[in-house]
Amino acid sequence: MHGNDSQFFLKTIVLSVMDEIFDVIVVGAGAAGLTAGIYTSRAKLSTLILNEGAVGGQMVLTEEIANYPGVPTTKGYMLANTMKQQAKSFGCKIKSNVKILRYSFEGKEKEIELTDGRIFKGKTIILTPGGRPRSLNIEGEELFKGSGISYCATCDGDFFTGKEVVVVGGGNSALEEAVALTTFATRVTIVHQFDHFQAFEHAIQEAKKNPKINFIMESELRGFFGKEKLEKVSVEHLPTGNISELKTDGTFIFIGYQPNTESLVGMIKLNEYNEIVVDTDLKTNVEGVFAAGDCITKKYRQVTTAVADGTIAALSAAEYLRN
Ligand SMILES: Cc1cc2nc3c(=O)[nH]c(=O)nc-3n(C[C@H](O)[C@H](O)[C@H](O)COP(=O)(O)OP(=O)(O)OC[C@H]3O[C@@H](n4cnc5c(N)ncnc54)[C@H](O)[C@@H]3O)c2cc1C
Repeated sequence: MHGNDSQFFLKTIVLSVMDEIFDVIVVGAGAAGLTAGIYTSRAKLSTLILNEGAVGGQMVLTEEIANYPGVPTTKGYMLANTMKQQAKSFGCKIKSNVKILRYSFEGKEKEIELTDGRIFKGKTIILTPGGRPRSLNIEGEELFKGSGISYCATCDGDFFTGKEVVVVGGGNSALEEAVALTTFATRVTIVHQFDHFQAFEHAIQEAKKNPKINFIMESELRGFFGKEKLEKVSVEHLPTGNISELKTDGTFIFIGYQPNTESLVGMIKLNEYNEIVVDTDLKTNVEGVFAAGDCITKKYRQVTTAVADGTIAALSAAEYLRN
């Protein structure tokens, strides 16, 4: 083949791929997106999942998942991989490590353009971009991110083997991850703003009976300090306003999450927390666009709830296509 012929051949292939119109494009390959992909591709709807980062979303950040029914305690990445393989076995296409530049939701054919110039068209879109850990936004946090401050015990716990760490937060993630950190750290101090925890009772009891964990209640971190790496944090005791210093090698922050919906501002209806507003069938305010998982307006965020949402959004999209 001559140079010109092969260029023409390549161009034709690229154009024909770009011309393909998927029945469903799913944005995000976490628990919600992979479940939606399993349902729609099994229903013989051509499905493409576009994912920023690694497939599995927050599941791959979770050391152990012990509350997914029917699956004995498992590693988060293993559950994610099983879901991915299941979706692929039904013909679902998954493109990971992509970056979305632009959405166009008008009309019957929706378009998604990636930063590398590729454009994908879908008759329906299911948005499942999930969320990410929330920051404290205090002095020194930006400076020590990655060199003492972490938001993922699974990812960074072993860097603190034989060291002392602080955990910020009082929900399930904070208490469960504090217990997980005792595998590595010699001492874990949980700093929490209230006088009680908002976690499940069994998580509280696990943390309380662990001899390596101690608690500083009704207190908030005010700053992170150190020369080249994190050396100490300042802590305010809220009832008295007293500020004290606590030496630490690392701090893990588990104070909730932020939805990954920045790129959707102005495209679909979001609430004041930037969560996607949906109805009970998980339809957004834009026809043919659905949303599922941690990114939507809801109270409880778990793998099971993300999976349930992915199912509902997929069935709603299928019904929309039938009609
Ligand atoms: C430390 C930790 C421990 C947890 N432990 C448990 C547990 O034990 N049990 C439990 O049930 N739940 C647990 N959870 C919660 C659970 O993991 C989540 O509720 C669930 O995985 C959310 O799934 P999701 O698909 O909605 O979102 P995510 O898992 O956040 O997935 C979203 C995906 O979309 C991608 N994405 C984001 N923006 C874009 C974009 N613009 N374009 C394309 N892709 C995008 C992301 O990279 C990600 O892959 C834990 C969470 C954390 C952080």
